[in-house]
Amino acid sequence: MKRTIIVASGNAHKIAELQSLLRECIDVDLVPMSDIIGRIDIDETGATFEENSYIKAQQVHALTGLPVIADDSGLIVDALDGEPGVFSARYAGPNASDASNRERVTQELATRGCETSTGRFSCVLCYIDSHRTLLADGHVQGLITNTVSGAGGFGYDPMFVPEGYAESYGQLPQSVKDATSHRAKAARALASMIKKLDDDTAMPHPPSMTILDGVCRSSIYAAEGDFDSLEHELLDWVVDTTSATAAYEAMLQTYLFAGFPIGLEALATLDSVLHQRNLVPQTRGFEQYNTSIFEQRGGELCSQVYGSVYEKMMTRFTAISPEITLWTIVEGYGKTLSRPGLEGIYRECAVVCTLATLGRRSQLYSHVRGARNLSATPEQLQVCADAIIECAGLQAYHLFAQVSS
Ligand code: IMP
Repeated sequence: MKRTIIVASGNAHKIAELQSLLRECIDVDLVPMSDIIGRIDIDETGATFEENSYIKAQQVHALTGLPVIADDSGLIVDALDGEPGVFSARYAGPNASDASNRERVTQELATRGCETSTGRFSCVLCYIDSHRTLLADGHVQGLITNTVSGAGGFGYDPMFVPEGYAESYGQLPQSVKDATSHRAKAARALASMIKKLDDDTAMPHPPSMTILDGVCRSSIYAAEGDFDSLEHELLDWVVDTTSATAAYEAMLQTYLFAGFPIGLEALATLDSVLHQRNLVPQTRGFEQYNTSIFEQRGGELCSQVYGSVYEKMMTRFTAISPEITLWTIVEGYGKTLSRPGLEGIYRECAVVCTLATLGRRSQLYSHVRGARNLSATPEQLQVCADAIIECAGLQAYHLFAQVSS
């Protein structure tokens, strides 16, 4: 299957390297983002390559709606305590040239009395389409020199001698860089994940209502601590990467409303199902902890869920406990409920099912309203109702019916 993917980068060297690396494994046409949306500036505010690649891919995906790959990469010099790292492109200042960035590395090495230093190139690639987020990384160890040799490659290539070689990437043929580099390793890992998406599409996909139903029922069994029923339920609907990812996200978020021990055991139950099915959720382990990103996206989602009563709710929370206000936004909505892999409406429906099962009337009321504020359809709320009556029983259903009316 031929894919067209936008590259969230203006660096022609990176795009050329990626194109040839990915084409070794998948049939792909990479299109520079400038061909679609012109040149745009994206603030790389992350503290890691992972965060920056995610920020770039997400922004370009939001603007184009198309599958996007972003590369964030750089040089890590041991003698410079890891610098330039995420600042590699702008080490000598905003809009710095490759030559001035290399010159700054040379100066910093000299300041520390070094001629060379060990270090590495690192690269994180992030792929986002309307269903999933994939991340892959790669590293290459080497020696950073205070002289530049060779005119090949780009960036810091002429001052980087990869381990096992006597010449820099600027001197070695591109074929050696393509066989050994950080980008090559990340690209191969990403290509095999993308290839797997093709294999997945050959499997029957559960329709979205099945995923919603599965997410709701599984959340109820988890909240009840009925892990045998949970396993049977998961085996029923977790059949491909999309449903595995949705199930992982649903089980992960149960820790918020049903408590950590339940969350952990629910994830262990899911893990055994994933092993049986040989599936890996795309979102597992992909996010670094970043309080400011969590606070921002959590605030946005929380105000959507609470709608017109958001300010009042937050004032009330803060009067009771300022800590709980911050945790609600950062931990609850930012770290957990706004992760990719499961749509907001599905998450709210799962929360509704969990709260109905646990008999939490006032929170249930807020989250039924929250599901509606996120534009849950009557059909989607009916899926919640059916799951509650069948898996949690009449008492939970009466509570749900009362707060929904
Ligand atoms: P980014 O656009 O923030 O990912 O910046 C990456 C910067 O790291 C580039 O501008 C280069 O200076 C450096 N860099 C990344 N990958 C390579 C590479 O393969 N060779 C040389 N320099 C690289």
